[in-house]
Amino acid sequence: MSKHHRHSALATLPSVAEVVAAAHPGVPLHCLRPHTFRANARRFTSRFPGDVLYAVKCNPEPAVLRALWAGGIRHFDAASAGEVRLVRRLFPKAAIHFMHPVKSREAIREAFALGVRDFALDSADELDKILEETASPHDLGLMVRLAPPRGGAVYDLSGKFGAPLAEAAALLRLGRAAAPRVGLCFHVGSQCLEPAAYGRALALAGRIIAEAGVPIDVMDVGGGFPVSYPEEVPPPLDDYLSVIAEGVARLGLPAQCRLWSEPGRALVAPGQSVVVQVLARRDNAETDSARPSALYINDGVYGALSDAGTALGWRFPVRLIPADGRTPMAALRPFEFFGPTCDSADRMRGPFQLPADVTEGDWIEIGQLGAYGSALRTAFNGFDQAAWSEVRDPPLLATPGYLAKGSRAA
Ligand SMILES: *Cc1c(COP(=O)(O)O)cnc(C)c1O
Repeated sequence: MSKHHRHSALATLPSVAEVVAAAHPGVPLHCLRPHTFRANARRFTSRFPGDVLYAVKCNPEPAVLRALWAGGIRHFDAASAGEVRLVRRLFPKAAIHFMHPVKSREAIREAFALGVRDFALDSADELDKILEETASPHDLGLMVRLAPPRGGAVYDLSGKFGAPLAEAAALLRLGRAAAPRVGLCFHVGSQCLEPAAYGRALALAGRIIAEAGVPIDVMDVGGGFPVSYPEEVPPPLDDYLSVIAEGVARLGLPAQCRLWSEPGRALVAPGQSVVVQVLARRDNAETDSARPSALYINDGVYGALSDAGTALGWRFPVRLIPADGRTPMAALRPFEFFGPTCDSADRMRGPFQLPADVTEGDWIEIGQLGAYGSALRTAFNGFDQAAWSEVRDPPLLATPGYLAKGSRAA
């Protein structure tokens, strides 16, 4: 199978079932839904009242980046020189912002040479680094990352980056004196289920601006916008956008101040699934029938299923594609998955609800893997083979606020 089918018209794309029937994939099959990436990008950019920076680390696959571009994304949040190079190669006119608060001097220099002008920071040392390596140009933007109060996000990011109130205010003043554009940014944590978290972070931004006593040119509310997972339906996108609108209004920012966001997961999670094959099924003895049966599959936590591993233990939507074309049993039962590597940590407890007759050779399509799925794959233990196809199927799960045109509200 070629790495990407080059079709783009939806009707000409095969369905997942058709690709599986034709190819009998023995390695994980990554199924890209270009229409879903496009629709999510269009939905977010048309609703968000400012610039939408796609967080490249979430899924840097060129086909994904092109579909987001087609959906109206023109700004990119890059966090490494490699991401800057990738985006610049694909989109010579894209606006790239370097939003990692701790960068190597080399990365700053290379990004600057490739047209990046906005750089994040959360310390005075990093401010010096940026000013030294960019020779204080007339169009530099300095974005001070603040540490938002914890809470509301399934995946917390507050432990690693962000300046506390007094330091953020001091950095804002220093930045104001050094560059023509300054801003505040934060990240409330990924898969943030609580819209109010953005309100609390914006209130903290207000205290920092007051303490600094200088105007800002950019207020960046970061990423963290959630999608649906089994038994986890987040509040609709509009709830987040109203909290942000209210929080920003309270700041009384200058009229020319830009609002930015940096969504990753919300734009790309639903657009990619992975079809895995069952290598073995092991049922537990009658005495231990409360334990889920185990399916040994050909992808795992060192592949695209990192977030399903024991550290986070996330559940993902699943769909059985029987190998022999039979109609699967209606009765579902819980299964746990083991990945293909020899590591006993390569285990995904789920539970994943599948037809009770799932057996060796069957395929399972696992959805919502467009975010932090293929981006986290490794070659550990030799399991780095994968097949790719673009498909016309809708996502396995709908997220409130992103329903495809014409589909009914869930
Ligand atoms: C990872 C990251 C994002 C994207 O976060 P999501 O939760 O995927 O929306 C945005 N900004 C920064 C600085 C990040 O590190």
